Amino acid sequence: MPLLPSVSEDVTALPAGGRNPIGVALGLLGDEWTLLILRHALQGTRLYGDWMRRLPISHAVLTGRLARLTEFGLLERVVYQERPERFEYRLTGRGRGVWPILLGVWAWELSFVEQHAEELPRMRHRECGEFFEPVLVCGTCSEPVRPRDLTGGFGPSGTWERSMPSATTRRRAASAPGHREGFFPQTTALVGNRWSCALLGAAFQGARRFRDFEERLSAPPVVIADRLRTFVDLGVLTDDYRLTAKGLAFFPVAVHTMEWAQRWFRSPEGPALVYGHAGHAFRPRSACSRCASPLRGGTIDRVV
Ligand SMILES: [Zn+2]
Ligand SMILES: [Zn+2]
Repeated sequence: MPLLPSVSEDVTALPAGGRNPIGVALGLLGDEWTLLILRHALQGTRLYGDWMRRLPISHAVLTGRLARLTEFGLLERVVYQERPERFEYRLTGRGRGVWPILLGVWAWELSFVEQHAEELPRMRHRECGEFFEPVLVCGTCSEPVRPRDLTGGFGPSGTWERSMPSATTRRRAASAPGHREGFFPQTTALVGNRWSCALLGAAFQGARRFRDFEERLSAPPVVIADRLRTFVDLGVLTDDYRLTAKGLAFFPVAVHTMEWAQRWFRSPEGPALVYGHAGHAFRPRSACSRCASPLRGGTIDRVV
């Protein structure tokens, strides 16, 4: 269990020298069950029994994930009935704040992954009434952003070591819904494992050769080779380890995750990642592909 000294609605102060916000966020969100539970929470699920009905999940897994989401301040456990005493789990501000990440996962899976356990819904933007995809834009200048448009990288608390989810927070293998049958099967392959997360981060930060990945991750060559092979098989990297269109399209999920991580968790040394765009600070935002106006959480309708 990671040590979280002060959870508040505002920000969680992380211990000096320890895992930075990125490592903490990846350890928490790089888990298929957690993403599914949050997805339903964003659609209004609050009761234990409703998650049980809506997901093929065991009591042990659901109990564990809800406890973890409460511990990290994404859910709040509230008594809603006295006799008998019953609890519901309400999303906090930081819990609701994951919507751009989940929207990015949805858009990427919809565009690039054919097989899903259930058909993914389409999304309509209420303000323009059109089916849309989220477009990554810069919050300062509102222009669409591609990975190569950004400058910067690790800040004072940003090292590979501190940005990795800890091995103990990795708990998907035994209980995930299953690779093929999963709801977000390929997202889980990219972020549900500490080395995969790091490898993807390295690719977005410009690693191109086997040696680049090896140096940045300090992982055994056999692990690097295995993960690179998986990424090539998924079509995220080419045979010579360049990001494909599919790989580049995952970038919005990565930057929204980083943004959320650094909004809600803080290392005393300073930020883990600092990005700039066209001479100003970069804050990721999502915009509608049809009308170009900024997306807000409450303005998206699901159309199944
Ligand atoms: Zn900009
Ligand atoms: Zn729109």
